[in-house]
Amino acid sequence: MAVRTRLTVWYTIVTAGILALYLLLSLALLRAQLLRQVDRQLAEHAREVRDALLQRTDFRQAVDEGRIQLPAVPPGAPPIYLQVVRGNESVAARSPNLIGWRLPLDMDLVALNVQGRAAHKTLITEESTPLRLYSLPLMDSGRMVGAVQAGYPLLDIEQTLQRTWTTLAVGGILMLLVLSLAGWWLASLALRPVDHITRAALQIADTPDLRQRLPLPRVRDETYRLVSTFNALLDRLARVIDAQQRLGADVSHELRTPLTTIRGNVALLRRGAADDPQEREIALDAIEAEVNRMSRLVADLLLLAQADTGMQLEKQLVEMDTLLLEVYRQAQAMAAVGSGGVERVAVRLGHEDQALVLGDPDRLRQLLLNLVDNAIKYTPRGGTITLSLYREGGWVRVSVQDTGVGIPPEALPHIFERFFRMPRQGRKGVGLGLAIARWIAEAHGGRLEVESQVGQGSTFTLWLPEAEGFAPS
Ligand code: ADP
Repeated sequence: MAVRTRLTVWYTIVTAGILALYLLLSLALLRAQLLRQVDRQLAEHAREVRDALLQRTDFRQAVDEGRIQLPAVPPGAPPIYLQVVRGNESVAARSPNLIGWRLPLDMDLVALNVQGRAAHKTLITEESTPLRLYSLPLMDSGRMVGAVQAGYPLLDIEQTLQRTWTTLAVGGILMLLVLSLAGWWLASLALRPVDHITRAALQIADTPDLRQRLPLPRVRDETYRLVSTFNALLDRLARVIDAQQRLGADVSHELRTPLTTIRGNVALLRRGAADDPQEREIALDAIEAEVNRMSRLVADLLLLAQADTGMQLEKQLVEMDTLLLEVYRQAQAMAAVGSGGVERVAVRLGHEDQALVLGDPDRLRQLLLNLVDNAIKYTPRGGTITLSLYREGGWVRVSVQDTGVGIPPEALPHIFERFFRMPRQGRKGVGLGLAIARWIAEAHGGRLEVESQVGQGSTFTLWLPEAEGFAPS
């Protein structure tokens, strides 16, 4: 069932319940009020008769002998019946309108009268019509000698109540009908924005263009929140799809270049280069270098893919100073490669504190080597690279400082993005190194920062939380 129908049905059920309760209560109150009025009149009449009787000196005799004249009901007045009974329940006198029958006898009323108490009760007569009866005891020196009874047929009250009930019920049903229609209209009004959003969302879903957004309502209500949440979701989706597309394009681009080189060298070998040992070595070296490059790329991509799926690191206590020393030695070897064993750039060890962190030593080594590799790549001959380690207020700070080409300020916010490379720097890297380094830092609860000046050099700083309780003294 549609929400609109469901809302209307519930609204109608609740309204019908409230209306019915209201009608029943009103009728019960009306009935009680009418009965009270009748009771008052009956009591008044009975008291008048009793007071008149008690004023007579021959009151006992008059009752015994039935010498009592009861007043006739004037024409147009309510049809009240009056009757005086003796102690033995025989009738002593009755009003002229009671000719032919007597007011019924009720033992409950008699029992109360005997105790000297007057009482009201509704009785059903032999003709099956309701009759209201009031019985007032006639007392003489503390003993009941008889009773004055006044009765009133409730038929017209019942009829009045019946008529009122019919009128109110018909009115209630009409009112319910109108209220249901109003409920349907209100539900439609409240749900209209949802309809709009659904239609707009369907339109967006039908087009391949994910740049479209839902129009924001002017009022900041629930609909506004729904629309902005939906738009934020679309933004995120568009970003993810965009990154995915870029990744696909970048990966294929990165793989195409080494494959072309490999294919070219294989063709060279086929054409006879294999016969010349020197040419063969050059071709095989080129193939090996490209295969290594592809392997690195695939390994990096795999690591980032695992990072995206929330890979957990296997952490242990790591002596950062020892790790940095290892990286320093490796950096010296890296700086010497291709320079005939002579360092192209100088690698120095700066300040070094002792520090322990909780982490994955292989990943931390990979992080620092990525930084060192970049520092070597982007520092011209004769430059210096300095590695330092400081312990500072619960943090371990490792910095890799170079005197290289530096990074222009407009590129700084992007260098940690996947596949970001500065233009015009040739094929020095694929642009995944810093993305991996930042992920490793963050997976250790730390962060990676950079400061750089074009032509002066760059400093990459890694902050890691110091292993608590294990701080070396
Ligand atoms: P790449 O594999 O290209 O080095 P990275 O993610 O490691 O990829 O670095 C991204 C870009 O940041 C590099 O292309 C380079 O332009 C710049 N960069 C990184 N480190 C340095 C550095 N020490 N000096 C100058 N530029 C750097």
